[in-house]
Amino acid sequence: YRTLRLILGDQLNASHSWYKEKDKSVLYLIAELRQETDYVVHHIQKISAFFAGMQQFAQALSASGHHVLHLTLDDTTSYTQQGALTELIQDTCQHYQISHVEYQQPDEYRVEQQLSQYAESLSVSSEGVNKARYPMCCDCVESEHFLNTRKELSQYFSPGKRYKMEVFYRKMRQKWNVLMVDGNPEGGKWNFDADNRNKLKKADIADLPAPLVFSNEVTKIVQRIEKHKINVIGTIEPISGKTKEALEKPNYQLPWPINRQQSLQLLHFFCNVCLPNFGRFQDAMTCESPHQWSLYHSRLSFSLNAKMLHPKQVIDAAVEAYRQSHQEPDIEQKITLAQVEGFIRQILGWREFVRGLYWANMPQYEHVNYFSASRSLPSYFWDANTKMNCIHHAVQQSLDYAYAHHIQRLMITGNFCMLAGIRPEEVDEWYLGIYIDALQWVELPNTRGMSQFADGGWLATKPYAASGSYTNKMSDYCKSCFYSVKEKTGEKACPINSLYWNFIHQHESVLKTNPRMSMIYRVWEKMNESDRVGILERASTLLQALPKL
Ligand code: FAD
Repeated sequence: YRTLRLILGDQLNASHSWYKEKDKSVLYLIAELRQETDYVVHHIQKISAFFAGMQQFAQALSASGHHVLHLTLDDTTSYTQQGALTELIQDTCQHYQISHVEYQQPDEYRVEQQLSQYAESLSVSSEGVNKARYPMCCDCVESEHFLNTRKELSQYFSPGKRYKMEVFYRKMRQKWNVLMVDGNPEGGKWNFDADNRNKLKKADIADLPAPLVFSNEVTKIVQRIEKHKINVIGTIEPISGKTKEALEKPNYQLPWPINRQQSLQLLHFFCNVCLPNFGRFQDAMTCESPHQWSLYHSRLSFSLNAKMLHPKQVIDAAVEAYRQSHQEPDIEQKITLAQVEGFIRQILGWREFVRGLYWANMPQYEHVNYFSASRSLPSYFWDANTKMNCIHHAVQQSLDYAYAHHIQRLMITGNFCMLAGIRPEEVDEWYLGIYIDALQWVELPNTRGMSQFADGGWLATKPYAASGSYTNKMSDYCKSCFYSVKEKTGEKACPINSLYWNFIHQHESVLKTNPRMSMIYRVWEKMNESDRVGILERASTLLQALPKL
């Protein structure tokens, strides 16, 4: 072989130009590594999904005539230390006497630094050397996935500056000509967010569709994870079987798509079944349906982030479904513009926007802590054992499926952590580990920026802080909760209420001048003194008892 091409676990993009030609002088390397399983504690479904996706991708590449070296944890046991990836590259090149390495631009700062420093070290050490050494050079190519290159993003985003997603999103709509008519937004408005805030009523809950889930058997992968003693969180479902043998030796199945074909199936299911109601119930939450975890969400984030789907492909499919639903009289459920715009905004807007902020602000983004938050994450984030029904459901569902939808992440767990003053590092680690789609480039700006406001407003114009009444408005969690959402003080008062006002009070010096917060401060100041004292006392008691709520 002349060239070694490295494929990372989140680079399962079969449309990449690398694969256009079959070149016998190229060896593709794709490897399960402790470096990637151990940088945080991951959900077992997350590791299984990445490993299964990598295996499928390697098999598909081999079947189409490419030369692939797919290594499992069993093959890479000696590569346990931090710099394992580059050591593996080095050893593979030595073994096959390969002089040239190529890799696709990584999305995570951690991996990008590792590979670019390696490439740099090769170019320095090869100066003036004539003798063959393996490898001699290492080059980076585009990953060909996003709707903006890193260079384009760097022209738009500068470190430490504040940006509005809406401004960026409109530029993207124009750039990609999505839902545009003669240079203007289709329907005369850029954003239909105001139409997208419904709560699920009883009849809506009964109508919730069963999600499309897959039954991908991953028993061997789970056994590898166990054999190599990888620390994991969450659960994975055993394939049911009643024989003694089946109970003793469980087989495991994964509900997530692990290849492009399944990802496309999920995309089509979303467009046909969920998109007609996507925006309408985008922010809603319930605990009264077996489909409460999926609702009308696409659950495409893993397929997108592992690059099994291209964002433009997803956007085009949604627009096509929207147009078709109006052209074909047989389609009963029409998709309104508000639904499709709401969905496209997430991918064309938010997804690209957070990536821009990430690269403009790394590595500082990993260290910002605007509110100097210093408490530890309570243990119920790992076992869902809390009397707060909203946290219980959001965490339990995350442990069961490695998934929670945006409002659960932002307004339930995220809001709680911000109000309780949890250290952003711990909050980040939890989100980065538990979710199927969690990769730092998208997790960090969402967690530190959007949910914790730890960047002081690079991403959001004000903290996404809310009292229990928000949860009560958007969900039915409060109905069956131990705590009372109507009360702010007293032993049974919803903790989120007093923690909210305590947060407002505590950070007055930095938040009061924010025009978007002025109304809240007026409400706080209008409360009578004894109520305010009572609320702050309740908050102080709760903060001391945080692990036991
Ligand atoms: P849908 O609701 O169906 O949305 C469609 C797609 O839009 C998603 O698949 C995703 O690709 C994109 N999208 C939606 N919102 C965002 C957003 N805020 N930022 C970037 N892309 C978005 N998303 C991740 O992909 N990985 C993460 O690690 C991650 N961590 C998050 C942490 C916190 C604290 C918060 C508040 C949000 C996080 N998000 C993350 C964003 C969002 O919650 C998920 O993308 C979404 O819930 C995935 O589910 P879905 O595919 O059903 O999304």
